[in-house]
Amino acid sequence: MIYKLPITLEDGQVFESLPITSVSFSKVSGYDGNGLRVTNLVGFSNGDFLKECPNCGQIKYSRCFGLRKTVNRDQSNCISCRSNSRV
Ligand SMILES: [Zn+2]
Repeated sequence: MIYKLPITLEDGQVFESLPITSVSFSKVSGYDGNGLRVTNLVGFSNGDFLKECPNCGQIKYSRCFGLRKTVNRDQSNCISCRSNSRV
């Protein structure tokens, strides 16, 4: 879990606290409690939000993406895609 609650999504969902059960939903973006841009969320499971990587198409935990704190948003590509594309 790399975000700060509450998380407000563009489809109207607001997470004031972490879901107790796993949830899944259509891919959506929004903002966390610090005004950080969160992107490509598709659900929640085992204490972390799930994100879809637009590069490899895999669904992974948000911690597998990380944050870009300098630009106040999360990373869109997952860590393994970013390390694979590094020259
Ligand atoms: Zn990826």
